[in-house]
Amino acid sequence: MTIYRSHVPDHPIPQINAYTFAISNPDTKDSAPILTDALTKRVITYGDWKRDTRLWATGLQSMGFKRGDVAALFSFNQVDYSITMFGPIILGGVATTVNSAYSADELAFQLEDSGASVIVVHPELLPVAIEGAKKVGIPMNRILLYGDAEVDGFRPYSATFPPADTPESQLAQVVNLNGQPALETTALICYSSGTTGKSKGVELTHVNFISNTVQVTPMEGDIPMNENIQLAVLPMYHIYGIQLHLMYGIYNGIQTIVLQKFNPVDFLKAIQDHKITSLNLVPPQILMLVKAPIVDKYDLSSVRFVMSGAAPCSAELSEALVKKFPRVLFRQGYGMSEMSPASHVGLYHDVVHGSIGRVLCNQEVRLVDPETGKDVARGERGELWVRGPNVMKGYRNNVNATKETVDSDGWLHTGDIAIVDERETFFIVDRLKELIKYKGFQVAPAELEALLLDHPLIMDAAVIGVENKEQATEVPLAFVVKAPGAGDALTGKEIENYVASKVAAHKKLRGGVRFIDVVPKSAAGKILRKDLRALVQQAPKAKL
Ligand code: AMP
Repeated sequence: MTIYRSHVPDHPIPQINAYTFAISNPDTKDSAPILTDALTKRVITYGDWKRDTRLWATGLQSMGFKRGDVAALFSFNQVDYSITMFGPIILGGVATTVNSAYSADELAFQLEDSGASVIVVHPELLPVAIEGAKKVGIPMNRILLYGDAEVDGFRPYSATFPPADTPESQLAQVVNLNGQPALETTALICYSSGTTGKSKGVELTHVNFISNTVQVTPMEGDIPMNENIQLAVLPMYHIYGIQLHLMYGIYNGIQTIVLQKFNPVDFLKAIQDHKITSLNLVPPQILMLVKAPIVDKYDLSSVRFVMSGAAPCSAELSEALVKKFPRVLFRQGYGMSEMSPASHVGLYHDVVHGSIGRVLCNQEVRLVDPETGKDVARGERGELWVRGPNVMKGYRNNVNATKETVDSDGWLHTGDIAIVDERETFFIVDRLKELIKYKGFQVAPAELEALLLDHPLIMDAAVIGVENKEQATEVPLAFVVKAPGAGDALTGKEIENYVASKVAAHKKLRGGVRFIDVVPKSAAGKILRKDLRALVQQAPKAKL
């Protein structure tokens, strides 16, 4: 067996409540302005943050929320998102973070599956939250709002706080999880389709959550990352944003400027106005920095560090970035919700373009031939397997899916194909699993296929990802077999609109629809996605 390990030594991972860890850095001062809203300029200091998380935990407790209970967060990025996230964690409860683009049905699925009993929602998303909560029977008085104002009788979450002068000793205490309980108690449930099928609840324990911050820090070498001003534009409901901005950022007292939603103008203005030095991005945002003419209207000279993650960033793209911004140091990170999320990051001072970098400490990595189960030789393609303290506890209420992903020896089979070079730098070269990534957002083919099969004029369907180079992303494309008699009544456009009306915007069939006589399947009935990919290669421009 060939096991790859980090070039940096292992670090002890504290086995404690994740909140206790977040506030354990002696170098972070209470006066540090850790979170600032890019647009309203509202600031939360480390001291405010520590107090408000405890006040919120106390408010939750007064609503009967207890250890093991789940609170759902349904919002765009907020300066107090991390406060609402750590409140339940203080109590040994769980935060489940919901994609802010979700429809009421998508939200209801996550509420039900995670067992959420409280929802904190951005006022703009209140109608969706009400509809979703009704579907699963969550009482209306357990829907609380971000912000200070009451809306249609719904209270802000801060209305549950005890009076501001409540002595510390009367606030909710942090549940002690020292040792084994920290390894077993779930802190976060993020949703991911993993290697196959529909969205599943990824249960991350307190130790999972802590470990990735401990693992990433030594990869910085001598760079004092805590002196950075970072922009939180990655969505805070995704583990990439949670880990970097809400755990790593808070623990290290990094000044984090929070942007509610990505749009080019607010993004560029925030970098200029706040003199951002560190950006954690997805490839299409890097493409924008390289190509969009609007970029030249802003002063981005403060930026020193740019990291790309969540989807492949080509060597061509990151080379173009550093060519255009010669003072920028670049690295790519690689991960998966199931790994809290990172297993690899590059080195800012030793970039290898197109690579995902090196193995993090406390981490074991193998490259395995998926057919034979044997490790491949260096330089050959193999499925990336990862073992370490950041690997999830499992999928919620789904023993079978957990077993298919994490084997009995603790190796997580990522479904990504990689190679490693002589310097132990890794490159992702292909994807074995079904997952499609649209601009870093997950699209599960199985979910869209189920939706297509619900259509009365569709007999069979298969969805694959196709590359869109101009946008540095993949887009979902559907192959559809019409039901007998559907005739010309069913057009590709209609199918695209049907899907768009049912799902969050990132899942739209942006790759279009192609009609086909039969979906190629194996004897066991599995869709042969390779054959469909070959069809696209033969006729890349085929239209509806
Ligand atoms: P998620 O759970 O949403 O973070 O999705 C994880 C998947 O995104 C991985 O298994 C990869 O397929 C893909 N991914 C994440 N980071 C990278 C990267 N740097 N290069 C290539 N693929 C990536």
